[in-house]
Order: sequence, then C-alpha cells, then structure tokens
Amino acid sequence: MNKKLLAELKEKLEKQKTSIEGQLEKFAKKDEKLKGDWDTQYPKTNGGVGSQALEDAADQVEEYVNLLPIEHSLELRLQNINSALDKIKKDRYGKCEKCGKKIPEERLKIYPEARMCTKCEK
Ligand SMILES: [Zn+2]
Repeated sequence: MNKKLLAELKEKLEKQKTSIEGQLEKFAKKDEKLKGDWDTQYPKTNGGVGSQALEDAADQVEEYVNLLPIEHSLELRLQNINSALDKIKKDRYGKCEKCGKKIPEERLKIYPEARMCTKCEK
C-alpha cells in the first residue's frame, strides 16, 4: 500500500475514533442519568401520579433498551478502529486476519477498520 493512501486511511480512522468516542460519551452520561432516574421514577409512578408518569417511565425504559445495541455496535467499531490504528503502527495494516491475504484497497477506502477480506467476512 502506498504511503499516501495509508496516511489518508489513518486520518480517516482517527477522525472516526474521535467521533465515536464523542457519541459514546453521550451514551455513557445518558446511561448514568437513566440509572439515576430509575430510582426516582418508580416511587413516583407507584404513588399514583397518574398514567402520564407511568408512560414517561415506560418511554425511558424503551429508550434505554433501544440504546443498548447502538452502544454495543459503537463499542465494537471503536475496538476495530483501535486495532486498525495499532496495525498501522506495527506496519501490519491491510492484511486479512483470517487468510492473511491483502485486503483490497477499495474495501479499505470504504471501510478502513476492516479486519478481514470480503471473502472471509462472509
Ligand atoms: Zn481473508
């Protein structure tokens, strides 16, 4: 792989890393807040404030449940990005982790954190 492309991909990866970490930070904070709200919401709804309080609590639970897979996939992407950046450092970037062949540059341009070639990914 030529150095220019490698530098471009590295920059892309670093940008993605910053962006994902920013998103995860929001989730983490939100997560904390939701946990805090759990304790305060339940006594309120049990106290019979009405169906609105119950709905609000249900919404929050739903939001939390919806966020979990997103958070998980962001974490996974971050892991792949970190691993790709590590490989760039060690001069091992662009090789398939399974078959050891070169990952096509076209694939890396679209998906720079790819760990495997298209064949092995399937
Ligand atoms: Zn492969």
